[in-house]
Amino acid sequence: MTDAAEGALVLFSGGQDSATCLAWALDRFGRVETIGFDYGQRHRVELECRAAFRDALTAGFPGWAARLGPDHTLALEALKSVSDTALTRETEIAMGADGLPNTFVPGRNIIFLTFAAALAYRRGLRHVVGGMCETDYSGYPDCRDDTIKALQVALNLGMARRFVLHTPLMWIDKAATWRLAETLGGAALVEAVLEHSHSCYLGDRTVRHPWGYGCGTCPACELRRKGWEEYGRDARRDGGLKPTLHGP
Ligand code: ZN
Repeated sequence: MTDAAEGALVLFSGGQDSATCLAWALDRFGRVETIGFDYGQRHRVELECRAAFRDALTAGFPGWAARLGPDHTLALEALKSVSDTALTRETEIAMGADGLPNTFVPGRNIIFLTFAAALAYRRGLRHVVGGMCETDYSGYPDCRDDTIKALQVALNLGMARRFVLHTPLMWIDKAATWRLAETLGGAALVEAVLEHSHSCYLGDRTVRHPWGYGCGTCPACELRRKGWEEYGRDARRDGGLKPTLHGP
């Protein structure tokens, strides 16, 4: 499915999910731009991975390179003043009594999508793409499908536009996200996501595991490792991929 006449803005943090979403958008839309938010993350490595992944797409996928437009980085320093989490301060990541990790920034995705829509308005882009997911989400209520659908209504009313908010990962888990990358861009895209996307909460890129870089023990690394191992098991069962190349 492609709609070459349409333009899209992808919320691109540099993580596995948004990297896959970027490929998904490039597969569908004729013009794709990216937006990243700088809100004083404790580790800036995720933002640095964004450029590396975009470069890998440009180098390895000429058809997509022609569609990939500018990257936008928005400073949202104000988020720091409403969050008290391990992402922005030197605190341990822990689970709160409400079942949410203390990395939770209340309503963060609502804020991101609203700024993205404002930029999409300016850039003449009708589609906004985000990696929100209910399946693997850590309890973040702003990742829920209902939240996104309600926000789409609010944005369209409030900006008098017909934006479409896309969340291609909403109902799939991390293993299926790897399979989606493989479907979109084959082993080359899987390798690009492995090498250049970043998930680790601690910003650790010193050790390269089979599933990519990370500390290996934080919740984000755990989730990524489990998804990769499940993907590898499924691929071997289906005979689709060489275990030597893609096995955990
Ligand atoms: Zn980690």
